[in-house]
Amino acid sequence: MERIEIFRQRFRAENISKNYRGFIHLAFINVWCVAGIVICAVNIHHPTFWQWMVIPFTFLYTNLFEYIGHRFPMHHRYNSLKAVFKRHTLQHHHFFTDENMNCESADDFKIILFPPVLLIFFSVCFVVPVSLLVYYLFSQNAAMFFIATTLTYYLNYEWLHLSYHLPETHFVYKVPGLKTLRNLHHQHHNHKAMDQYNFNITYPVFDIIFGTLKSR
Ligand SMILES: [Zn+2]
Ligand SMILES: [Zn+2]
Repeated sequence: MERIEIFRQRFRAENISKNYRGFIHLAFINVWCVAGIVICAVNIHHPTFWQWMVIPFTFLYTNLFEYIGHRFPMHHRYNSLKAVFKRHTLQHHHFFTDENMNCESADDFKIILFPPVLLIFFSVCFVVPVSLLVYYLFSQNAAMFFIATTLTYYLNYEWLHLSYHLPETHFVYKVPGLKTLRNLHHQHHNHKAMDQYNFNITYPVFDIIFGTLKSR
């Protein structure tokens, strides 16, 4: 049996319980993020041009957050963040390699999507404090735009990463540009390149800025 197959079977046996349902995991992420986005949208009133500009600034901030989080704690063993390194480098990168990028069933979503507890932690510990700061420094509209953009980004991250681990023949690949993004992530899953290239999972803005973009 191939090494990756042995790893997958062991990971599933040790980490995916019989009660796990990949589509419920995916639904939780969607409901949490969409609910947050809707709450923010109904609390935005007559936004000005500069309040709208919170969207592109927040996009850049979250893209940088994604880049740094992936390049450093997910690929380097820091004592306080060992669990992040284990889940990403030792598990995700061994479950999926550049030779086999495809999940086999919804059970495998467990090793692609972030755990629900992380979404709650991320919302409470990162989004809420920064949005309070934005609220006090600027306005309620700016804070609402900030929260809505981070939740949209998070949801987009999960959708994109999940689609990269679906077969290339899947209907989602009718979406223009998706194959190009998948190719970047596919190369990142090569063990020789994983700590050098393509750290943006979504859009490679900071890979371009920091010179770590590798496209075939
Ligand atoms: Zn991946
Ligand atoms: Zn990685």
